[in-house]
Amino acid sequence: MKILLTGCAGFIGSHVLERLLKDGHTVIGVDNFDPFYARTLKDNNLSLAISHLSSKDQFDFLEADLAEESSYTKLKFIAEGLNALPSQGGVLPPERERGASESQTGSTGTFDAIIHLAAKAGVRPSIEDPVGYQRAGVAVTQYLLEFARKEGIPRFIFGSSSSVYGVSPDVPWSEADAVTRPISPYASTKVSCELLGHVYSHLYGIRFLGLRFFTVYGPRQRPDLAINKFVRLIEAGEPVPVFGDGTTRRDYTFIDDIVEGILGALHYEKTNYEVINLGNDQTVTLSEMIETIETVVGKSAIISRLPEQPGDVPQTWADITKAGQLLGYKPITTFKDGVAKFYDWYKAQKPSF
Ligand code: NAD
Repeated sequence: MKILLTGCAGFIGSHVLERLLKDGHTVIGVDNFDPFYARTLKDNNLSLAISHLSSKDQFDFLEADLAEESSYTKLKFIAEGLNALPSQGGVLPPERERGASESQTGSTGTFDAIIHLAAKAGVRPSIEDPVGYQRAGVAVTQYLLEFARKEGIPRFIFGSSSSVYGVSPDVPWSEADAVTRPISPYASTKVSCELLGHVYSHLYGIRFLGLRFFTVYGPRQRPDLAINKFVRLIEAGEPVPVFGDGTTRRDYTFIDDIVEGILGALHYEKTNYEVINLGNDQTVTLSEMIETIETVVGKSAIISRLPEQPGDVPQTWADITKAGQLLGYKPITTFKDGVAKFYDWYKAQKPSF
């Protein structure tokens, strides 16, 4: 397949890129190196991912902000294998003469699929910058869906989030639950994007799968996320900020299991619109998480207790029955093994932090 992968220099995106290249797909990756965390880490992610290239024609990269309309003109030119960019940017490519039915039957356009993982990630920072999160989340997804419509791209996989469930006490969370009560700007952008996806699947027959990731961890994990941050602090003998009493729970999902789920979605051929949980169906408390890191790193944590943070949810827990039925999804990595794999990667990359 020829795939447009957004956010390909990020944590999840670079793993997906690596897997797509290993499986022999052709990929055009886009990333704007959003300054949320260091570019050196994203450069490393990309280098590791493309070390699996079988030929240089298999991958092309566009550094561009997908919230800028002109990025789509560049993207189209790269996808069509043209080496000259148009002299004037700033407009979406002209619509092709093609009916919606073609996009229901298979690829007729520039790409066979879009895997959309670009976003400003992180719940707490979205409270500080709600407009930026709306732009990188909702505006980018809207542009990409229009690009899919105009280019006749038949499938669209979207990286959604467990945060759409808000603070619902009815765990494990199921896709049948209402998601009308998000508690952060970030979560609300994910709900909005899922709704936009439904519009495009209904009107234009684009197969839209919104995959709700549950706290993803593993090698290349974002430095703002707890496991990465705590490993660094525990190793350095510095205080670990613990918000609340340590009883908050997360359904941590190892990156390789998430990638399997995304690949399952790429090959899914049945219905045209689904939202699907990709979790681990097991929860780990904050205290248990710290204990596991202590065991793996071989050092005790110095705990600094702080009040709970606005926007944080007390628990996340995925019902993954639907993912199993539709995608053959079956996570296999235990939390301890996953943390150990993260730590192996972290030790190898340490100079970049
Ligand atoms: P990440 O920050 O490592 O990757 C996102 C990438 O998108 C970054 O490299 C960033 O530079 C790029 N990006 C941001 N805005 C862009 C724009 N306007 N144009 C082009 N590129 C842009 O984050 P991640 O953890 O890999 O998350 C990937 C996706 O999965 C995101 O949509 C995120 O919301 C979602 N998600 C992640 C988790 C998790 O636990 N990591 C959980 C739920 C959902």
